[in-house]
Amino acid sequence: MTQAVPITVANGDGIGPEIMEATLRVLKAAGAAIAPEFIEIGEKQYLAGHSSGIAPEAWESLRRTKVFLKAPITTPQGGGFKSLNVTIRKTLGLYANVRPCVSYAPYVKTLHPKMDLVIIRENEEDLYAGIEHRQTDEVFQCLKLITRPGCEKIVRYAFEYARANGRKKVTCMTKDNIMKMTDGLFHKVFDEIAPEYPEIQTDHMIIDIGAARLATRPDLFDVIVTPNLYGDILSDIAAELTGSVGLAPSANIGEHVAMFEAIHGSAPDIAGKGIANPSGLLLAAVMMLVHIGQAEAAARIHNAWLSAIEDGVHTAELHSHLSIGRPFGSMDFADAVIDRLGNLP
Ligand code: ATP
Ligand code: MG
Repeated sequence: MTQAVPITVANGDGIGPEIMEATLRVLKAAGAAIAPEFIEIGEKQYLAGHSSGIAPEAWESLRRTKVFLKAPITTPQGGGFKSLNVTIRKTLGLYANVRPCVSYAPYVKTLHPKMDLVIIRENEEDLYAGIEHRQTDEVFQCLKLITRPGCEKIVRYAFEYARANGRKKVTCMTKDNIMKMTDGLFHKVFDEIAPEYPEIQTDHMIIDIGAARLATRPDLFDVIVTPNLYGDILSDIAAELTGSVGLAPSANIGEHVAMFEAIHGSAPDIAGKGIANPSGLLLAAVMMLVHIGQAEAAARIHNAWLSAIEDGVHTAELHSHLSIGRPFGSMDFADAVIDRLGNLP
């Protein structure tokens, strides 16, 4: 038996606690060797006066376990609350945002049934450095910051990811025909590092045509690596194209800490009803297991999940003529995945 790896877990708000319970149930049944430590984040913490939505003691757990499985949270309206995601990303140095974008046709309606790609977005630099000022009454400026170490980290991460996950091609997207120094550096570093991975094909596209191609010919892409702002826009386009925003996971990777979550929000409209789809969070947990070296448990869960979806085990928002029976609740869905785990070795 592998030693249980301590991980930090936040149940979050809205549907968070329900989908987390379902997710942890599957992980346990699959024999994942994890020891969850729960922390409080989200609405209650904001309203208790912690302006970034996280209790000070929670940082201690995160710094110790270095692995964070996070359910969605609700940021209270008004009152100038800081985004918890931005705070966590900056505080823990999570430089890579990894978004697999996969279509699950015919169970999920999509324009591109064969879509299967991964967007790797730089997560700390670019226009998100938050350095803006006013030059005159009528002129405002925002600083676009791109560093060589930042480019090297994210480009190398993209190639390592491709190699570790059997991906064949990495495409870099920038606007270096216009921003010759900032985006130019990103592209240059990409060209410098690429030869270290001779088995992986490479390509560069200008972001505007790249985004257009992504929308019409996603089969041209495998892994995409791009600066922060372009990555933000591309990953929403790609998630929307798969048609399965409720199924999509993401990882935020740093040198020391990594965070895994679903891409959807806390869905207050369906909270407390036990009907939410836990798949986005469950697939994020699968990415987490790979990250902590438990690839076998990860594969077992992923396969069981796929066969549940293919068997017509669907929560309410996916329900169609391809589904079996009545819509599955979050927990029944988890149990149906567990039924398909097969025998533990
Ligand atoms: P937030 O501000 O927290 O991001 P939001 O309203 O922008 O919230 P979501 O919370 O992602 O966005 O919800 C968008 C829609 O998708 C809602 O109608 C919600 O019910 C639905 N939805 C989101 N996640 C799920 C899920 N896991 N299962 C089923 N439906 C979901
Ligand atoms: Mg939202």
